[in-house]
Amino acid sequence: MKRRAFFSTSTAALAGSLIVPARSHALDLTQAPLPYAPEALEPHIDALTMNIHFGKHHAAYVKNLDGALKAAGIDKADPVALISDLKAVPEAQRTAIRNNGGGHVNHTWFWKWMAPAGSGPKGPEGKLGAAIQNTFTSIDDFKKIFGEAGAKRFGSGWAWLIATKDGRLKVTSTPNQDNPLMKGVVEDENLGTPILGLDVWEHAYYLKYQNKRPDYIAAWWNVVNWAEVTKQYEAAVKG
Ligand code: MN
Repeated sequence: MKRRAFFSTSTAALAGSLIVPARSHALDLTQAPLPYAPEALEPHIDALTMNIHFGKHHAAYVKNLDGALKAAGIDKADPVALISDLKAVPEAQRTAIRNNGGGHVNHTWFWKWMAPAGSGPKGPEGKLGAAIQNTFTSIDDFKKIFGEAGAKRFGSGWAWLIATKDGRLKVTSTPNQDNPLMKGVVEDENLGTPILGLDVWEHAYYLKYQNKRPDYIAAWWNVVNWAEVTKQYEAAVKG
């Protein structure tokens, strides 16, 4: 018992020293409340989907991440730092931390990337609006490229708008709960800071949209929280 306690403490200290909290992105290991009522995104995203998505799926990622970290002897960590440098976590728990850490981070941001329709700006403004126009020609062209990245993702995964290391905008996609911050998992050219992400797992839309993923994506644009997305872009390019 004593020996085991010592082992887990020293492993935690070692892991802790390798896992440096990431600046503006730091998150808790617990699930923050939804920033709006589950029915607030209707009719675009229905309340039952939100309740199950937040209360069951996201909650399970948090619980399983907690279990994996306990097994790894890590008692404190910034989940964003964890998933950014998976090589720093014990190999035995690496896959579980990749899947559930990714799940926790992705969903925490996903809730913030949405807001009730009509509650904020209708599109990207300021620096982000200009950068999207420069990169993709127009907002509509950007939406088309991003929507296709989500529609074409085979099986479960995410579509992303990222800011690359050199500050460029890029649309990418990842399978499962992978995140563009995951070095060594995501191809180098697709690494970057997520500015906006769209969950295209069936659990995100199936109750309302069934097999019509493109309809879900088209409706989702109505609930994008452009104020938050703009804020995250400005933080990302400020470095
Ligand atoms: Mn999801």
